[in-house]
Amino acid sequence: MCGIIGIENNEDAMVLTAAGLLTLQHRGEESVGITLSGKDKMKTFKYMGLVSKIFDDEILLKKLPATTAIGHVRYTTSSKSSLTNAQPFQITCIHGNISVAHNGNITNFNEIKEMLLRKGAIFSHTSDTEILLHLMAMAKGDELTDIIASSIRKLDGAFSLVILRDKTLIGVRDKNGFRPLVLGKIGNSYILSSETPAIEVMGGKYVRDIEPGEIIVIENGEIKRSFIYEISKKKNTCIFEQVYFARPDSTMFGHTVKEARIKMGEYLALQMKDIKADIVMPVPDTGYCAAIGFSRVSNILFENGLVRNYYVGRSFIKPMQNLRDLIARFKLRPIKEVINGKEIVLIDDSIVRGTTSRRLVNILKEAGARRIHFALSCPPIINSCYYGIDTPSRSNLIAANNSIEEIRKYLDIDTLTFLTLENLIKACSFDDKKNIEEDNNFCTACFTGKYPTKIPNNICKEG
Ligand code: AMP
Repeated sequence: MCGIIGIENNEDAMVLTAAGLLTLQHRGEESVGITLSGKDKMKTFKYMGLVSKIFDDEILLKKLPATTAIGHVRYTTSSKSSLTNAQPFQITCIHGNISVAHNGNITNFNEIKEMLLRKGAIFSHTSDTEILLHLMAMAKGDELTDIIASSIRKLDGAFSLVILRDKTLIGVRDKNGFRPLVLGKIGNSYILSSETPAIEVMGGKYVRDIEPGEIIVIENGEIKRSFIYEISKKKNTCIFEQVYFARPDSTMFGHTVKEARIKMGEYLALQMKDIKADIVMPVPDTGYCAAIGFSRVSNILFENGLVRNYYVGRSFIKPMQNLRDLIARFKLRPIKEVINGKEIVLIDDSIVRGTTSRRLVNILKEAGARRIHFALSCPPIINSCYYGIDTPSRSNLIAANNSIEEIRKYLDIDTLTFLTLENLIKACSFDDKKNIEEDNNFCTACFTGKYPTKIPNNICKEG
């Protein structure tokens, strides 16, 4: 879970990159980094915390003349949260000055690291991204695309990358297309970004998605594209981006994520057509769109009975378990007048550990809720993600270890409904007739256990 951005051939590269990163802040709040290149030598600046930290750094602000830049916001999924592991990673090697920002998880990291250590490589980070820099530094040849492609072919797993080599900007997406990466344009400059809203905020226009397995090299406003692998019809884009992670104003597969989430709510309402309730209420913020869709189809009144404190950040986003409790307690507050005496359909995107939902149910009951029907806009999460979404180990996934009825009892609610996988795929495909077997767009491993790549035995999930 990270956000990446890059811009080439633009006098305002630094400010635009910072603006883009602010728009991707939801993809990671732990650290932020930016690499600048232009008249001066390439330089990287990194900070723990929010993107706004960039604007406190007078030295960085004096570097405004940069014409090419990449940036990264980080949420740790596979290594320590620290300034050393903050990205982009910049190195100098035989192929020039190179800086890399990565979103995803390289699943054969341990195996490649072992091989590199034997060859004498020295590691200064614990992040999986560092192995790519070693592979690129050791790659033979002069052609930039060959150097990148030969390194990438050794990697398994999920990686959307923006890379800077001196003033050249490069974008890469793994062959499954797990994590998003889009291309935009502003004037004579190209932009690469995890999500489309960052391009729009920068004043640019969305051009297209980077294809799975594609490398694009951008120099002086010109693009060269090539493919690392033969193009496959089957993509494995993470469906959970649409359920939870991406911004609702992001465009994915030709529609906004908001529209997909509304559809999820509509299908949930069809699944729950026998339920009568006074109000349908979202868990802010990801539940909003699905609750609108639910209300439209069921004709149950949409109400907002929970107020979110926006200064806390996503409760999960801080990886320290001991702080999660505290954060969650003041993150959502109930509006008693809305809730008291009501039979409620409560809509959230997902149940992971179950702790947030249980706390939420308590809050609603204390505020006087009469009956609670809890509905989730995705199926039960029964498998960990090894491709960049922060899900805990299977032992901590409530649905991996309990039946739906057991979860309902644990949450102490009246009914519990998960969106079926079929309906989720229909919602994200905008195709009412789509069936699971025909789907060739999505990775659904967290719900099905069908991982599109080999998962090594020694890969472990924390927490
Ligand atoms: P839990 O208490 O573990 O069941 O948390 C469920 C809540 O966490 C839901 O409200 C989701 O919006 C949110 N959530 C789900 N997946 C993630 C994730 N990977 N990172 C952060 N938050 C998440």
